[in-house]
Amino acid sequence: MTITALELAGLDDATVRLTDADLRTLSALADGRVLRPGDDGWAGAVAVWNGMVSTRPAVVAQPSTSQQVAALVGFARTHRLLLAIKGGGHHIAGTSIAAGGLVLDMSRMDEVTVDPVARTAVVGPGCLLRDVDAATQEHGLAAVLGFVSGVGVAGLTLGGGLGYLTRRFGWAVDNLLEVEIVTADGQVRRAAADENPDLFWAVRGAGANLGVVTRLTVRLHEVGPLVHGGLVAWPFERADEILRAYRALTSEAPRELAVWLMLIHAPPEPFVPPSWHGRKVCAMAVCYTGSAPDEALAPIRALRDPVVDLVGPVPYTGVQSYLDDSEPAGMHYYWKTSYHATLSDELLDVSRELFAQCEIPGAELGFLHLGGALNERAWDDGAVGNRDARYVSGANGMWAPDEPRAHEFRRWVSDAGRRIEALGTGRSYVNFQTADEGEDRVLDSYGPNADRLQRIKEAYDPGNLFRCNRNIRPRTHG
Ligand SMILES: Cc1cc2nc3c(=O)[nH]c(=O)nc-3n(C[C@H](O)[C@H](O)[C@H](O)COP(=O)(O)OP(=O)(O)OC[C@H]3O[C@@H](n4cnc5c(N)ncnc54)[C@H](O)[C@@H]3O)c2cc1C
Repeated sequence: MTITALELAGLDDATVRLTDADLRTLSALADGRVLRPGDDGWAGAVAVWNGMVSTRPAVVAQPSTSQQVAALVGFARTHRLLLAIKGGGHHIAGTSIAAGGLVLDMSRMDEVTVDPVARTAVVGPGCLLRDVDAATQEHGLAAVLGFVSGVGVAGLTLGGGLGYLTRRFGWAVDNLLEVEIVTADGQVRRAAADENPDLFWAVRGAGANLGVVTRLTVRLHEVGPLVHGGLVAWPFERADEILRAYRALTSEAPRELAVWLMLIHAPPEPFVPPSWHGRKVCAMAVCYTGSAPDEALAPIRALRDPVVDLVGPVPYTGVQSYLDDSEPAGMHYYWKTSYHATLSDELLDVSRELFAQCEIPGAELGFLHLGGALNERAWDDGAVGNRDARYVSGANGMWAPDEPRAHEFRRWVSDAGRRIEALGTGRSYVNFQTADEGEDRVLDSYGPNADRLQRIKEAYDPGNLFRCNRNIRPRTHG
């Protein structure tokens, strides 16, 4: 890092001037791993998945130990710097970037240690899903994680975390055993059911608000190495039939089966017949982790004449990454999502009508299949709540940065999201919320848990140091 005095964004819209000496201190706290624009590694350190996020920090520090994180949090607090924590950089709202401020890029803390006997893994906050899936699958084990391998484990888990295994084992946070966390006062704490239980409760769904998690210990399950999965798709003209079949099969599916339903334009991929490229289809992304695939997949097989059918035996790590290329980094993304307890006729009809009118080539309108174990715990078992969710809907738009119809596309997503949300539980997933969704929306996401969450936030972060996230303000703040 070139040492020279610098103005940074501070808390509460203030500007903070760091002297040369301050910057030398900052650099020493991170073992010299502090980056400024133009430095080697800067571009990667500030890159985020959503190309629509144009803000950039002034400085990035790349700690490698919890003690360094604690010292850096202390530095940010003392100097009243706007601070953000970057895991995998995948939050659609770009919450890992403190505009003009300081980012702690956790990518150097990327160790995974698996204990195959205890069936646990200790995961560093810089790990991506693929790091954990690769390490755990060596032992025929898996953690509850999402289904795109470049997403960060910390960001995903701390907001709840859902994936193909959620129906069997609940939210990712239902499988979180403990965390090590640096709180706003600079203390390195252990939070678990038997130590700092309030903090642990809040971390399980709103973790980004409570501190910097420097280690996650998660429960593993026997999964794979071979499962049954893949994509299967039918003409959109059959949407009525396919949507209703989806509702029927997901309402009776064993927990080992998770099926995402997506109304999309077929991509120009080699596995899609050329005559179908760009045409509307009803697609299902399937993952079955049980031992009776023929029986479990029969309702899908009964839907004859698919235009694409890739469902078959596949390594679990393959299922966890086959959607990776469908949403490449750097494109512009805008999503609206909501939870649903049921798929009513009206919801299915509205979805079909909306997608029939959709002109965004990179749009997706669909449902992620939840339910199962997620529904079995009490609402207040962790801050995450939403124990009535059986599906998450998404009206998702993707377009190139120079797309001339971007404004119109964005409006389609908003309108579609609003119509679909009106047929949901009224709440949405914090990990999928966009930057224009306000604090009320965040609080609403936690339902009856919001009140306790605000009190815990007040206890651990009264100055709202951790605000670059889906923010819960402490009771006393602003
Ligand atoms: C293509 C794509 C696919 C996705 N698939 C799924 C899915 O299958 N299941 C699912 O549940 N979600 C999914 N998500 C949503 C994802 O869970 C969130 O975007 C999540 O926030 C990403 O975590 P990250 O570490 O990559 O993001 P970042 O943007 O780096 O971080 C997200 C938030 O977490 C905070 N944070 C990160 N690390 C820490 C830490 N160590 N301590 C405290 N706070 C921290 C950041 O400050 C930020 O507010 C997907 C997102 C994308 C873009």
